[in-house]
Amino acid sequence: MRTKMTVVIGAGMVGIASALWLQRAGRKVIVIDSHPPGTGASHGNAGCFNGSSVVPMSMPGIWTSVPRWMLDPLGPLSIRLAYMPTLFPWLWRFLRAGRREEVKKQAAALRALLGPTLPYLKQLAAGADVDDLIREQGHLYVYRSEKALAGDRFGWQLRGDAGVQLDWLDRRQLQDFDPALSPSYTHGVLIRENGHTTDPGDLVLRLAEHFVRQGGAIHRAKATGFRLDGGHLQSVETEDGVVPANSAVIAAGAHSNALLKMLGDWVPLETERGYHVMINDPESQPRVPTCDASGKFVTTPMKHGLRLAGTVELAGLELAPDWKRARALIKLGQKMLPGLPACIAEERLVLWMGHRPSLPDSLPVIDRASRCPDIVYAFGHGHVGMTGAPMTGHLVADLILGRPPKIDLAPFRHTRF
Ligand SMILES: Cc1cc2nc3c(=O)[nH]c(=O)nc-3n(C[C@H](O)[C@H](O)[C@H](O)COP(=O)(O)OP(=O)(O)OC[C@H]3O[C@@H](n4cnc5c(N)ncnc54)[C@H](O)[C@@H]3O)c2cc1C
Repeated sequence: MRTKMTVVIGAGMVGIASALWLQRAGRKVIVIDSHPPGTGASHGNAGCFNGSSVVPMSMPGIWTSVPRWMLDPLGPLSIRLAYMPTLFPWLWRFLRAGRREEVKKQAAALRALLGPTLPYLKQLAAGADVDDLIREQGHLYVYRSEKALAGDRFGWQLRGDAGVQLDWLDRRQLQDFDPALSPSYTHGVLIRENGHTTDPGDLVLRLAEHFVRQGGAIHRAKATGFRLDGGHLQSVETEDGVVPANSAVIAAGAHSNALLKMLGDWVPLETERGYHVMINDPESQPRVPTCDASGKFVTTPMKHGLRLAGTVELAGLELAPDWKRARALIKLGQKMLPGLPACIAEERLVLWMGHRPSLPDSLPVIDRASRCPDIVYAFGHGHVGMTGAPMTGHLVADLILGRPPKIDLAPFRHTRF
């Protein structure tokens, strides 16, 4: 192999961002995925590029809210009982990650990774002809009472400490900003620095097409192993044969642990399954992506309609979707946007479930494999993988090319668990 070849495993937002940055640095890159680009978690998310998302999922006192959330059929969390024994060790780590001092460190690490998202995304997308899919209009959080807002005080403090500019809105200002919202919302916070995409799946696909136009290759196969010699990578094994490579990136989202185990590594990677409902030709839409902070769901105006996305279901990779979780989002959306009709014809709805790749401390892994410095891990972005991908891809390229990384990678080590 005269030209250095990198194989990227996974054609989600993280894999494609990594592939593009590596290609831009002069590497030959092959992306390997058993599915078309942008059809995993990167397909159906809420599309938000929220550099302000520094608040980890596990927060102090979260365990007091869990029973209430689980008993509420419209609640943001469900755990399948059959999955509980498998889940328990992850859940324990998750709860421990929610200690105040840990959370402050996680928030600082998240801000470093996510803060520069939009400038990095724009650089990444240069020449890819995706401007029509990217909006820079901010993100709104809404609350139905002062008490509910006060319950999130620590989260807002973390965002403020991270340097995020917060515009506080009262009921009247909320209605002025977006008359489509229910007047039952009494408090809001507008974060102007955030952006969104109007079609995350199409964004990844078009970035992947750009990568191919620039000389990259995408190989439809499942990666099944690695051949090492003297601690260095020789090739990546796939169901279809062997691909010679000097370096590789594991960006296989929620499926990454299977590949890590082949290299003698392991991390407590779980999947927080999430759902969306698309309403085609909606009667009402929010002006900008809007998160009901108590209901923990987001409504995003998209190219093909209104997307209601959210919920966390802890049920692993194999169990069938529970579409009641998606349908609950319709009811929540109707409460947020009273202009939506009480009954929406089935043919106008598209339901989706996807696997967020989640580590207990809400931070991804961006690191070299223990036994082979040629293999870089880039997965586990949980709720913020669209946002985190542009910077993650750049950091991956730094590690592969031996450049100094733009941010401190210590919080993202796989050995931290
Ligand atoms: C409901 C919901 C809403 C969300 N909203 C947002 C949001 O608004 N903003 C945000 O930033 N994030 C959001 N997220 C999170 C975001 O979608 C994920 O963090 C992100 O898409 C993860 O990207 P990825 O590339 O790591 O994984 P994926 O997109 O899942 O890609 C992984 C790819 O690896 C492939 N793969 C797996 N194993 C192998 C193998 N052995 N060989 C070859 N290929 C393999 C898979 O086929 C897949 O294509 C949301 C998630 C959900 C579920």
